[in-house]
Amino acid sequence: MIGIADTGQAETDLTTGTLCCPSCAGPLQRWGHARAHSVRDHGTTTLALRPRRARCHTCRGTHVLLPAVVAPRRADTTAVIGSALQASASGTGYRRIAAQLQRPLSTVRHWIRAGRDPAHVEWLRAQALSWLAQLDRDVIADLEPQATLLGEALSALAAAALTLRVQLAPHVPPWTLIGQITHGRLVTRPAPTRPG
Ligand SMILES: [Zn+2]
Repeated sequence: MIGIADTGQAETDLTTGTLCCPSCAGPLQRWGHARAHSVRDHGTTTLALRPRRARCHTCRGTHVLLPAVVAPRRADTTAVIGSALQASASGTGYRRIAAQLQRPLSTVRHWIRAGRDPAHVEWLRAQALSWLAQLDRDVIADLEPQATLLGEALSALAAAALTLRVQLAPHVPPWTLIGQITHGRLVTRPAPTRPG
Protein backbone atom coordinates (compact mmCIF):
# COMPACT_ATOMS: atom_id res chain seq x y z
CA MET A 1 0.00 0.00 0.00
CA ILE A 2 1.26 3.44 -0.94
CA GLY A 3 -0.43 6.53 0.49
CA ILE A 4 -1.18 9.14 -2.18
CA ALA A 5 -1.98 12.75 -1.25
CA ASP A 6 -2.66 13.84 -4.81
CA THR A 7 -4.30 11.19 -7.02
CA GLY A 8 -4.10 13.35 -10.17
CA GLN A 9 -0.36 13.77 -9.69
CA ALA A 10 0.01 10.02 -9.08
CA GLU A 11 -1.65 9.30 -12.46
CA THR A 12 0.79 11.69 -14.14
CA ASP A 13 3.72 10.07 -12.32
CA LEU A 14 2.56 6.61 -13.46
CA THR A 15 2.51 7.84 -17.05
CA THR A 16 6.00 9.30 -16.84
CA GLY A 17 7.38 6.37 -14.80
CA THR A 18 8.43 8.60 -11.91
CA LEU A 19 6.39 6.87 -9.21
CA CYS A 20 8.74 4.38 -7.56
CA CYS A 21 8.20 0.90 -6.12
CA PRO A 22 8.51 0.99 -2.30
CA SER A 23 10.25 -2.42 -2.36
CA CYS A 24 12.91 -1.91 -5.02
CA ALA A 25 12.53 1.69 -6.30
CA GLY A 26 11.73 0.46 -9.82
CA PRO A 27 9.17 2.40 -11.89
CA LEU A 28 5.50 1.58 -11.22
CA GLN A 29 2.99 1.07 -14.03
CA ARG A 30 -0.84 1.02 -14.00
CA TRP A 31 -2.23 -2.38 -13.08
CA GLY A 32 -6.01 -2.00 -12.95
CA HIS A 33 -7.79 -1.06 -9.76
CA ALA A 34 -8.22 -2.44 -6.28
CA ARG A 35 -11.69 -3.42 -5.01
CA ALA A 36 -14.12 -0.51 -4.83
CA HIS A 37 -15.25 0.42 -1.33
CA SER A 38 -16.72 3.37 0.47
CA VAL A 39 -15.68 5.28 3.58
CA ARG A 40 -17.67 7.59 5.81
CA ASP A 41 -16.91 11.29 5.72
CA HIS A 42 -18.45 13.97 7.98
CA GLY A 43 -22.05 13.28 9.03
CA THR A 44 -23.68 10.70 6.78
CA THR A 45 -21.65 11.57 3.66
CA THR A 46 -19.78 8.66 2.11
CA LEU A 47 -16.90 8.65 -0.34
CA ALA A 48 -16.72 5.94 -2.98
CA LEU A 49 -13.17 4.82 -3.64
CA ARG A 50 -11.70 2.67 -6.33
CA PRO A 51 -7.97 2.87 -5.64
CA ARG A 52 -5.53 2.47 -8.48
CA ARG A 53 -3.35 -0.62 -8.44
CA ALA A 54 0.17 -0.41 -9.86
CA ARG A 55 2.77 -3.00 -10.72
CA CYS A 56 6.53 -2.62 -10.51
CA HIS A 57 8.27 -3.00 -13.85
CA THR A 58 11.38 -4.36 -12.12
CA CYS A 59 10.28 -6.72 -9.30
CA ARG A 60 6.67 -7.32 -10.57
CA GLY A 61 5.30 -6.57 -7.11
CA THR A 62 1.86 -4.92 -7.07
CA HIS A 63 0.86 -2.03 -4.83
CA VAL A 64 -2.43 -0.28 -4.10
CA LEU A 65 -2.26 3.51 -4.30
CA LEU A 66 -4.57 4.49 -1.46
CA PRO A 67 -5.67 8.15 -1.40
CA ALA A 68 -4.50 9.71 1.88
CA VAL A 69 -8.03 11.07 2.36
CA VAL A 70 -8.60 7.68 4.03
CA ALA A 71 -6.50 5.61 6.41
CA PRO A 72 -5.78 1.96 5.62
CA ARG A 73 -8.32 -0.40 7.23
CA ARG A 74 -10.43 2.47 8.61
CA ALA A 75 -14.07 3.07 7.72
CA ASP A 76 -13.82 6.84 8.29
CA THR A 77 -11.90 9.59 6.53
CA THR A 78 -8.77 11.13 8.02
CA ALA A 79 -10.78 14.38 8.41
CA VAL A 80 -13.40 12.71 10.64
CA ILE A 81 -10.81 10.92 12.80
CA GLY A 82 -8.78 14.13 12.99
CA SER A 83 -11.82 16.15 14.11
CA ALA A 84 -12.35 13.67 16.94
CA LEU A 85 -8.72 14.06 18.05
CA GLN A 86 -8.98 17.86 17.87
CA ALA A 87 -12.11 17.84 20.02
CA SER A 88 -10.40 15.52 22.50
CA ALA A 89 -7.33 17.77 22.66
CA SER A 90 -9.57 20.69 23.56
CA GLY A 91 -11.16 18.72 26.42
CA THR A 92 -14.36 17.32 24.88
CA GLY A 93 -15.32 13.86 26.22
CA TYR A 94 -15.63 10.93 23.86
CA ARG A 95 -19.41 10.57 24.37
CA ARG A 96 -19.99 14.10 23.17
CA ILE A 97 -17.55 13.63 20.28
CA ALA A 98 -19.34 10.44 19.22
CA ALA A 99 -22.68 12.29 19.27
CA GLN A 100 -21.30 15.25 17.34
CA LEU A 101 -19.69 13.09 14.68
CA GLN A 102 -22.56 10.55 14.63
CA ARG A 103 -20.21 7.65 15.23
CA PRO A 104 -20.40 4.60 17.56
CA LEU A 105 -18.99 5.17 21.04
CA SER A 106 -16.61 2.21 20.75
CA THR A 107 -15.09 3.57 17.54
CA VAL A 108 -14.54 7.04 18.96
CA ARG A 109 -13.19 5.66 22.24
CA HIS A 110 -10.62 3.68 20.25
CA TRP A 111 -9.47 6.83 18.40
CA ILE A 112 -9.30 8.87 21.60
CA ARG A 113 -7.24 6.16 23.32
CA ALA A 114 -4.66 6.39 20.55
CA GLY A 115 -4.66 10.16 21.04
CA ARG A 116 -3.82 9.65 24.72
CA ASP A 117 -0.93 7.29 24.15
CA PRO A 118 2.18 9.44 24.76
CA ALA A 119 4.44 7.28 22.57
CA HIS A 120 2.02 7.41 19.64
CA VAL A 121 1.37 11.13 20.03
CA GLU A 122 5.10 11.82 20.16
CA TRP A 123 5.47 9.76 16.97
CA LEU A 124 2.79 11.89 15.27
CA ARG A 125 4.57 15.07 16.33
CA ALA A 126 7.91 13.71 15.09
CA GLN A 127 6.41 13.06 11.62
CA ALA A 128 5.21 16.67 11.46
CA LEU A 129 8.56 18.05 12.63
CA SER A 130 10.51 15.98 10.14
CA TRP A 131 8.41 17.43 7.28
CA LEU A 132 8.75 20.95 8.67
CA ALA A 133 12.51 20.51 9.00
CA GLN A 134 12.59 19.90 5.24
CA LEU A 135 10.01 22.52 4.24
CA ASP A 136 10.52 25.49 6.54
CA ARG A 137 12.39 25.38 9.86
CA ASP A 138 11.08 28.83 10.85
CA VAL A 139 7.58 27.35 11.22
CA ILE A 140 8.87 25.01 13.96
CA ALA A 141 10.15 27.97 15.97
CA ASP A 142 6.77 29.71 15.61
CA LEU A 143 4.67 26.78 16.92
CA GLU A 144 2.56 27.95 19.89
CA PRO A 145 2.78 25.86 23.09
CA GLN A 146 -0.38 23.75 23.66
CA ALA A 147 -1.97 22.44 26.86
CA THR A 148 -1.61 18.75 26.00
CA LEU A 149 0.79 16.47 24.12
CA LEU A 150 -1.99 15.71 21.65
CA GLY A 151 -2.55 19.43 21.18
CA GLU A 152 1.17 19.86 20.45
CA ALA A 153 1.12 17.05 17.90
CA LEU A 154 -2.03 18.30 16.13
CA SER A 155 -0.69 21.84 16.02
CA ALA A 156 2.58 20.61 14.46
CA LEU A 157 0.66 18.45 11.97
CA ALA A 158 -1.60 21.36 10.99
CA ALA A 159 1.46 23.58 10.48
CA ALA A 160 3.18 20.90 8.39
CA ALA A 161 0.05 20.36 6.27
CA LEU A 162 -0.45 24.07 5.66
CA THR A 163 3.21 24.58 4.76
CA LEU A 164 3.12 21.58 2.43
CA ARG A 165 -0.08 22.92 0.90
CA VAL A 166 1.37 26.36 0.22
CA GLN A 167 4.63 25.03 -1.17
CA LEU A 168 3.65 21.89 -3.07
CA ALA A 169 0.00 20.92 -3.08
CA PRO A 170 -2.40 23.90 -3.02
CA HIS A 171 -5.40 21.84 -4.16
CA VAL A 172 -5.07 19.01 -1.61
CA PRO A 173 -7.18 19.37 1.59
CA PRO A 174 -5.11 19.75 4.81
CA TRP A 175 -6.46 16.57 6.45
CA THR A 176 -5.51 14.57 3.37
CA LEU A 177 -1.98 15.94 3.69
CA ILE A 178 -1.99 15.03 7.39
CA GLY A 179 -3.00 11.51 6.33
CA GLN A 180 0.03 11.48 4.06
CA ILE A 181 2.40 12.97 6.67
CA THR A 182 1.32 10.34 9.25
CA HIS A 183 1.39 7.45 6.74
CA GLY A 184 -2.33 6.87 7.36
CA ARG A 185 -1.60 6.13 11.02
CA LEU A 186 -3.27 9.02 12.80
CA VAL A 187 -4.82 6.59 15.29
CA THR A 188 -2.95 3.40 14.41
CA ARG A 189 -0.24 2.62 16.90
CA PRO A 190 2.64 0.31 16.00
CA ALA A 191 1.30 -2.22 18.54
CA PRO A 192 -1.34 -4.79 17.42
CA THR A 193 -4.29 -2.96 15.90
CA ARG A 194 -8.01 -3.54 15.77
CA PRO A 195 -10.37 -2.31 13.09
CA GLY A 196 -11.75 1.08 14.10
ZN1 LIG B 1 9.78 -3.25 -7.35
